[in-house]
Order: sequence, then structure tokens, then C-alpha cells
Amino acid sequence: METIRFEDLELDAKIMRAITDMGFEAASPIQGQAIPLELQGLDIIGQAQTGTGKTAAFGIPLLQKIDPKNKKPQAIILCPTRELAIQVSEEIRRLAKYMHGVKVLPIYGGQEIGRQIRSLKDGVQVIIGTPGRVMDHMRRKTVKMDQIHTVVLDEADEMLNMGFLEDMETILSALPEERQTLMFSATMPQAIQRIATNFQKDPQIVRVVKKELTVPKVTQYYYEVKPKNKLEVMCRLLDLYDPKLSVVFCNTKKQVDELVQGLQGRGYFAEGLHGDLKQEQRDRVMRAFRTGRTDILVATDVAARGIDVDDVEAVFNYDVPQDDEYYVHRIGRTGRAGREGKAFNLVVGKEVYKLREIQRYCKTRIIPQAIPSLDDVTSIKADKILDQVGEVLQDSDLSKVIDIVEKRVLEEDYTTLDLAAALLKMMMGEEGEELLEENRPLRELEDLEDESRRSRGGRNGRGSRGRNEDVARLFINIGKNQGIRPGDILGAIAGESGMPGRMVGSIDMFDNYTFVEVPREHADVVLQAMRGAKIKGKNVHMEKANRK
Ligand code: AMP
Repeated sequence: METIRFEDLELDAKIMRAITDMGFEAASPIQGQAIPLELQGLDIIGQAQTGTGKTAAFGIPLLQKIDPKNKKPQAIILCPTRELAIQVSEEIRRLAKYMHGVKVLPIYGGQEIGRQIRSLKDGVQVIIGTPGRVMDHMRRKTVKMDQIHTVVLDEADEMLNMGFLEDMETILSALPEERQTLMFSATMPQAIQRIATNFQKDPQIVRVVKKELTVPKVTQYYYEVKPKNKLEVMCRLLDLYDPKLSVVFCNTKKQVDELVQGLQGRGYFAEGLHGDLKQEQRDRVMRAFRTGRTDILVATDVAARGIDVDDVEAVFNYDVPQDDEYYVHRIGRTGRAGREGKAFNLVVGKEVYKLREIQRYCKTRIIPQAIPSLDDVTSIKADKILDQVGEVLQDSDLSKVIDIVEKRVLEEDYTTLDLAAALLKMMMGEEGEELLEENRPLRELEDLEDESRRSRGGRNGRGSRGRNEDVARLFINIGKNQGIRPGDILGAIAGESGMPGRMVGSIDMFDNYTFVEVPREHADVVLQAMRGAKIKGKNVHMEKANRK
């Protein structure tokens, strides 16, 4: 696996500074391939999906071409959903942090248009918009297209799924001939290839060529968590499984530092490994890990290369990796030399789709798990201590100690059972003491347990992948008579729930209602997201269809 450093890509110093702040250690595979071509001004078709670093893959070269003195729009990025438009503009803003005078604005349906018009008038160079709203501004002449030199179609296949083909074509036709056109898409259906033929000039295809990967035989789990609960869940897993040595992977140097701090603050022996460390520091960290002085090594992908430690019992993906190959390399750090290993993935929101992709591509199974509750952690800890007690009982002559205990129990008014319970509590340490307290409903923990219940529920619904039982049929009280097209429904579901449109199954439209199929495991999320949603300005109600 070749590593491409950002330093080798001849980037603008201001952008380099922003990248350093973001804590990126190296270019992701798609960035390593796309950026050099884009910097030459070539059109590209990038086959990449969310989570691969694709936003920066087009954002960095695009920003490099922006003239901060020219206040007119110079680049436009089209996205299928409001959510993605916001996400992309946040990432581009972070990259443009030191580029004074560069303004980035998301424009999407649902937001008051007057406000957008005012912001556009103030001068915006990079626009990130959903096709419908961009067309709206074009009609009103509130977006001037004559200085646009770069256009990006982000998640082009999703835009197609959502019925934006015509809009995309209209917008592309309205742009200056002399421009760079970058298209990113997870899949390459024919309509996408047609757009490439009609609107791109000799596009270069960029995709990460996948090698045959052998997935090590490691039991793999994943947990759906909220970002603010990641550290807590990580600690619970460490407590519950108590691995002798663990390697924890993060995607950025910054995250490595933050996590190490968080773990150390909670009393774990953790140390970090990333590219900013000097050789002697790395050697020290590795020595400590090998000898077991630190039992948790937190690392980036690049830094973890070449780590060769045999008895790593668990790998944690604190961040979902950006590439399938990284995943396989990461989990290969455990389960070596015939030992059993475990891999744990913490997954936030839409990252679950990335993980599914990894699962599909690597032909492996990543088992969904409920977040361990505090009671699980407490009872496992207690069991461990009691197991040790059992060994002591078997192997030692305890008569003298029994005398001491007996004497004390006779003097005091507690029983040997009380005494054993108190000793157990003491043995469980400070943390055990906290865990045993009643009334500990910290809000954050309540959230966690909610999530835990949800994922338990979700787990029961899985298991028979690929069969019809995996699909839930949902009913919506809107249909053809209300002037609705399947694309509108697909768009609303994808836009509101964040589930990729390609995961929506058949859409059966009738005059006044519609049935839509979605993967059963996402049905509840979709229903919840659609609560209170509007389609083409109409309130809709969605529920499970009456069919088992
Ligand atoms: P994307 O695929 O664009 O949705 O990016 C997914 C996440 O990866 C975002 O949080 C980015 O900030 C992050 N990211 C992008 N490039 C890199 C990189 N080279 N190293 C680490 N993280 C990155």
C-alpha cells in the first residue's frame, strides 16, 4: 500500500496549513490519485463513495484555483441532498480556513431563498447546491455563471436516482465551455457515462483498484454510537473484554492525540503513534507496548504499518477506515499466530453504509452488537474478580486468614456475606464503586442505553440477508393524483434519513398512495426521519404497510 504525502502534491501553503490543522496524516487513496490529475486541469470521473475522503479530493484542487479578489462564483458543486451540501461546504470551509476572502455558501431547498440571495450578493466564490435550488437561482439570475471554471457533480448517481438528470444537464449547459468538470459517483450507470460523454473533455477515470484481499479470521463487531459517546463506549468495551494488548485506529493524527488524552484521563495505559513523532519517541512507545507497560496503542494507518506484535487481542476502529484495504490491514493486527482475535468498529450515523460496503467487498461478516450497558460491565468485572477468588480458594491454605475474618465478624454486627460484598466492591476499584451506585442516570448514559436498546432491536431483524424478508414495505398517503413522481419520494427518503437512494427498493405508485420498499433494518430510521416531512410542499404520513 503506497502512501502519498500531501507534502508531495505541491499544494498551496495556505491549504497545506489547513490540512495540517485537520490532522490528516497522508492523502487517502482516492486523493492520492485524483489530486495530481485535477491540478493539471483535467476532467475526471472519480469512482468513490462517502468516507473515502472524496470531498477533499475535489475540494483541494478546486480551492487552489479560486481567485480571492474576484467576488463572483468560480466553482459550483452539485449535491443530491441538503445534508450532503451542508457537509461538503463545511469540509471546504475547513480547507479554505486560511484563504482570506474566499467565501463558501451552501444553497439548498427548504432554506429561505431571500437569505441565500443576500449572501450571494455579498460575493461568494464557491457554491454548493442541490440541483433544484441552483436552477431556481439561475432562473432568478441571482447566480452568475459566467466566471465558473470548475464544476463538481458529487454523488452523481444519487442525483440521478433522485430524478435530477435534467436539472444537472440544464446547469451544465449553462456553464462556460472553458471549464473543468469533475464527477464523483459510487456507481457508473449508463446515464452517468452519457453525462461524461456529453459534458466532459477526455475525462480520466480514477478509482482505487482493489486487490484481492484475504480477510483474517477475526471475529468482528460493530456498534452504532453517537459521536459524543464514542469514548465512553470505547472504555466500556475495554472494560468488558479486557484485552491484554489492543491497537486502536483513528483516521487522523488529531484524533489519535485526543483519544490518548481521553483514555489516559480515565486511567488507561494508552499511548499514541503517528507521523509527528520523532523516531526515538516511536521506539519508546513501541517498546512500552511490546513489554506490556502500555496495553493500548492508538495509531493512524500509516504509523501502524510494520507494527509486528503477536499477542494483540483486539483491534478497535475508533474511526471507520477510508479504504477497504485499510480495514483488512487493521484487523490483521490481531488474531496472529493462530490466536483468537477480535475487532470492534465504532460507527457513527451514515458510516454504517461504509462499513456495509467493506463487509460486502471483503466478503466478511461484521456483527452488529448492542452497546454494553453499565450493568454488563459491572457484572463482568465482578465475575472476573470472583473467578480469581475461586483460584485462591483452591490453591491456598486460608486457615489463618479465616481466623482473622471470624474474629472480626464476631466483634462487629455484620455477616461474612456483607464482608465479602464490601471486599468485592473495594477490589472493583474506583470505577467499580461508581458503577455500583444507584441513581447514576447521567444524561449521556441514558442516551447510550437508548441507543443500545435500539441496536438490540435492530439486531433481531437481521440475519437473512438477500431474502425478501429483509425488505420492509412502507405506505405513504400520497400518490400520482398529487403530482408526485417516484423520484420525489426517493429524494425525500434519502434526503431526510441519509440512507443512500440506491438502497430504496421498488416504489409502487397508485392514485392516492404509494408503497415503497426499504431494507428492513432501516425501516424505523426512515419512518422516524419522515415524521413531519413534506414532499413537494405537502405534508405526508408514512407507516409500515399491513403486510407481514
Ligand atoms: P468524505 O469521503 O469526503 O465524506 O470524507 C470523510 C471524512 O474523512 C471527513 O471527515 C474528512 O474530513 C476525512 N478525511 C478526508 N481526507 C482525509 C485524510 N487524508 N486523512 C484523514 N481523514 C480525511
